[in-house]
Amino acid sequence: MQSLHEQAKKIIPGGVNSPVRSFSYVGGTPLTIAHGQGSHIVDIEGKSYIDYVGAYGPMIVGHSHPEVCAAVNDAVSKGFHFGTSHTLELGLAQRILQHMPYLEQIRLVSSGTEACMSAIRLARAYTGRSKIIKFRGCYHGHSDALLVDAGSGALSCGVPSSPGVLAEQAQHTLVATFNDLSSVEALLAQHGSDVAAIIVEPIAGNMGMILPQADFLPGLRHLCDEAGALLLFDEVMTGFRVALGGSYALYPVLPDLVMLGKVIGGGFPIGAFAGRAEILSYLAPVGPVYQAGTLSGSPIALAAGCATMDIIAQPGFYDALAEKSARLTAGMADSAARHGVPLTTVYAGGMFGFAFVDAMTRYMDFSAATRQRFITYFHAMLSSGIHFAPSPYEAAFISAAHTDDDIECTLVAHGAAVHIAANALDAI
Ligand code: PMP
Repeated sequence: MQSLHEQAKKIIPGGVNSPVRSFSYVGGTPLTIAHGQGSHIVDIEGKSYIDYVGAYGPMIVGHSHPEVCAAVNDAVSKGFHFGTSHTLELGLAQRILQHMPYLEQIRLVSSGTEACMSAIRLARAYTGRSKIIKFRGCYHGHSDALLVDAGSGALSCGVPSSPGVLAEQAQHTLVATFNDLSSVEALLAQHGSDVAAIIVEPIAGNMGMILPQADFLPGLRHLCDEAGALLLFDEVMTGFRVALGGSYALYPVLPDLVMLGKVIGGGFPIGAFAGRAEILSYLAPVGPVYQAGTLSGSPIALAAGCATMDIIAQPGFYDALAEKSARLTAGMADSAARHGVPLTTVYAGGMFGFAFVDAMTRYMDFSAATRQRFITYFHAMLSSGIHFAPSPYEAAFISAAHTDDDIECTLVAHGAAVHIAANALDAI
């Protein structure tokens, strides 16, 4: 009998509903998951995996957390969606703004793509300018203007700038280098008076994980102020993932607009963008900038989001998460060093990254050997029951449900996988 994936491939392009899920970078067949609980997911053959994908970020309290399940079940029993206001909208908006007090207003949408696309429209309308500056390898969803030199699945599938995006749509997107202020200065020198916004992942998570160097975010703030452009922080991945309140807690630089998603919906479709009331007031129905959504503010997603936010707001939540990330990444680095394999590891809160290179401060085109090392390592880990994303350009995510045993198990598998990867490469 054909595998489910083979059947799916006939009627769903690539058999997946998002290319990041395909195994096009690593080869082989993507997992088909039957269910998940806590730190584990189980495939349809009954094989269990310790999960460090966490649905690409949202599952910060683990899969099927009982309190989130209860909130969702309660919401479901009251009706799925009404197309009019309901109490959970205020509930989630208040919870988010409470932890990001520099933001005054927020609009909820259904995905990170929508949040970024809408924030760009708003920034252009507010400034009356056309151009935006983004960074090579940062990913801000798949809207036309932002699908230029994009990271994440776009990199893994080899289409960082997609056919179908018209030159007219891409021409206003200027591309700079992450952690390199001079590349931004050069673009501003040429186009400064027409730059509406600089959009950045304050902690990059779509070209592997890369922390901002000390001067980078303050420098962007300064350059935006000088040029009269808005600074947009895309915290779809990092917001409530790296710390309560997002990257500001670690790198206190104030953006003009912030985009959110993933964690704030607890695993259900969501996105949001937020900022000062003065800017958000440009949005319809108060102002002229149109933005809308039939399923925006879905009660089910908001119930999951509120329940998740209540768990992550408990004292010590992020300290415990960061301690696990620290222990895991330090163990991974130690073991690689023992095998003589170059491995950079990095973490912030419940997000971490690793790459088979000595250092990584900006987008890197990995060498054939580094790619091969990742591919060998990925498959060795997967067969040991450790689930990482099938691309070196994705970040990894740990949840509150991951136990000391999970970390120990992961480090044992990692030691063996690094050994195999080292030898496989020696054989090339
Ligand atoms: N921005 C960032 C930083 C992201 O990581 C992602 C998705 N991984 C998006 C935007 C797009 O979000 P979505 O997939 O919900 O459209």
